[in-house]
Amino acid sequence: MGGHRLAYALVRPPGHHSERRAFGGFCYLNHNAIAANFLAAHGRVAILDLDYHHGNGQQDIFYARRDVLTVSLHGDPKFAYPYFTGFADETGEGEGEGFNLNLPLPEHLDPPGYLKALQRALQRIEAFDPRFLVLALGLDTARGDPTGTWAHRPEDFRRLGVEVGRLGRPTVVVQEGGYKTRTLGLNARRFFEGLAEGSRW
Ligand SMILES: [Zn+2]
Repeated sequence: MGGHRLAYALVRPPGHHSERRAFGGFCYLNHNAIAANFLAAHGRVAILDLDYHHGNGQQDIFYARRDVLTVSLHGDPKFAYPYFTGFADETGEGEGEGFNLNLPLPEHLDPPGYLKALQRALQRIEAFDPRFLVLALGLDTARGDPTGTWAHRPEDFRRLGVEVGRLGRPTVVVQEGGYKTRTLGLNARRFFEGLAEGSRW
């Protein structure tokens, strides 16, 4: 709100599994939802969740609202936590109908396949035309992450950053999951390099 184009909330524990009435998945406070709710007083907000696991918290919190679009790419809940939400037919309710987009993805997925899904998510966000973007950045899509099944390498994270940066919206990046601690720092660094490159700030 002070005019910076990019902010980074390096928070622990993560928050995106915290719902209105339930917590789980290591999460107690939904930081990305708190930020989005604050920003929503000043314009439309899109939350994009790139964690390996479904962002059930912000889906639950904004499910009946149309001023905050929630989008999540994640391992299909048929095999991935949180198992009971994150299916494609969860699209919102009441005024919020059509303002929740879930893209559940297969257990075995290569980085180009993931990129295709990301491009679909970004198209939906473009169409929504938000004033702000809140990015729930999970790095547990990384190769070797003990909670995930995908294989993103540092260079793949850079590419994802470029794509998100091209949206060109003022962005709050909120740290979510990511448990392969040996590569976590480099993956985050590459993502931010891509974000800066794509957005030309
Ligand atoms: Zn996760």
